[in-house]
Amino acid sequence: MVLRHALMTASESGRLRAFVSRTPAARGAVDRFVAGEHAEDAVRAVADLAAQGMLATIDHLGERTLHPLQAEDATRSYLVLLGRLADAGLAGSAEVSVKPTAVGLGLGAEGEALAADNIARIATAAERADTTVTVDMEDAGSVAAILRIYHQVRDDHPGLGCVLQSALRRTEGDLVAVARPGTRVRLCKGAYAPDPGTAHTRRHDVDTAYVRLLRWLMESQAYPMVATHDPRLIKIAGILAAVNGKGRTEFEYQMLYGVRPDEQWRLAQEGAQVRVYVPYGPDWYGYLTRRLAERPANVGFALRSLAGR
Ligand code: FAD
Repeated sequence: MVLRHALMTASESGRLRAFVSRTPAARGAVDRFVAGEHAEDAVRAVADLAAQGMLATIDHLGERTLHPLQAEDATRSYLVLLGRLADAGLAGSAEVSVKPTAVGLGLGAEGEALAADNIARIATAAERADTTVTVDMEDAGSVAAILRIYHQVRDDHPGLGCVLQSALRRTEGDLVAVARPGTRVRLCKGAYAPDPGTAHTRRHDVDTAYVRLLRWLMESQAYPMVATHDPRLIKIAGILAAVNGKGRTEFEYQMLYGVRPDEQWRLAQEGAQVRVYVPYGPDWYGYLTRRLAERPANVGFALRSLAGR
């Protein structure tokens, strides 16, 4: 718990980010969880996954942009990526995931409108490429704005997916509001430091909330995207899907690149739809520290990489 807190704090530290980013040996730790720095690396990872019968959602790494030009760069990176996916004939195997703070949310009073506009541009490009976009969920302070953006953009782009976190107490109400027929809803536990006022702080409560929300989602007409590596929750998802008569193409499992690849493979072999979240780009620091905080066992791996062993 202490290590987890230290790592969550480290994910916010600009000085530590600068130090790690300057350390070439850190690449070993990064490579396990990040597909590479360039769009071609992400496309290659998608091709590998497709060859194994799996789908992907690609995240251009970066969040909390500090300037509208950075938000524009991030948006253009997605437009380029979608073009590359279409050129490679892989748009049927991959969609994209976008963090609203990477494309403008948080940039003052105009940030929310800028992020909505940029996500709509990405959604338009995705539709042209014949694929979809999922709007990632971020820290608790951004949730209300992200859901407003989601509802606004979804009106014109019905394929737009959203993410809900079982750690947050508000999520039950949010699920009722988003889970319309056909809506793509990714359910995860939540990757951000919990605030006791708004979130469950005990793992057990986060897991129990996940099961409650999942049951509701599976009973609804929405399209459930079960984002977890938790063996118990994966099992429960399979049971709930069967009980509710959801066929193979009516829900999917989602896991992160480099996390439990054996389980990803096993589920795909069983005939389930599995989508792997593939992050790429040079701005990997915040993403990596969140992965380490979730599973401190990975810290040993990261330290060995840093030590060159
Ligand atoms: P945990 O509670 O971390 O772990 C439960 C159990 O799973 C462990 O006890 C272990 O048995 C198994 N396990 C977990 N990790 C490993 C591992 N590395 N190796 C072996 N076993 C393991 N969060 C957000 O806040 N916003 C998002 O938009 C978002 N998108 C996501 C998209 C995807 C596809 C996924 C998979 C996660 C996403 N997350 C997102 C992160 C998520 O909220 C959790 O922080 C993360 O998935 C860890 O929770 P968990 O459900 O995997 O289980």
